[in-house]
Amino acid sequence: MALAYIGLGSNLEDPLAQVKRAFAELANIPQTSLLARSSIYSSHAVGPEQPDYINAVALLDTQLAPLALLDALQAIEQAHQRVRIQHWGPRTLDLDLLLYGDQIIAEERLRVPHPYLTQRSFVLYPLADITPTLQLPDGTPLAALLSRCPADGLLRLPSLA
Ligand code: ATP
Ligand code: CA
Ligand code: CA
Repeated sequence: MALAYIGLGSNLEDPLAQVKRAFAELANIPQTSLLARSSIYSSHAVGPEQPDYINAVALLDTQLAPLALLDALQAIEQAHQRVRIQHWGPRTLDLDLLLYGDQIIAEERLRVPHPYLTQRSFVLYPLADITPTLQLPDGTPLAALLSRCPADGLLRLPSLA
């Protein structure tokens, strides 16, 4: 079993509903359970001009290997009719594998920890909701990354029912 953190993002077609549905779908991945979910946030988009994002992070406990988990995440994105038109462009659902246990993976299809994890407030703040004491595989404490990362317009939404 491994603990895996997943970053969720959406800025098209009712983003809040997309993210809530994605939490349920993450819980349904075979050989996997959903252990925790962060608060839900809104953030200003990086990259091309586009609507604000809804973001969150989920913690999974999984028996799937990293690439099999990535397959499952991409299948969920496809079920949300994600279309890739533009790099960093708007999307119905983005699921990034942020961390997989203490593993460091540097493959074409899969880089873990996620390469931009350390710079993104919309990832770091929700990670801290779930595991404030988290450390990256290289030993960097999440708290140290947060202290260097301005919230940058990130807003925590009122809690889910
Ligand atoms: P960013 O990676 O900056 O967040 P993005 O999420 O918009 O950008 P995508 O278009 O969703 O990028 O993904 C491009 C490719 O990245 C995917 O096809 C996938 O194989 C690869 N990839 C590499 N590492 C990861 C990871 N940790 N999680 C998800 N996809 C990854
Ligand atoms: Ca992403
Ligand atoms: Ca992605």
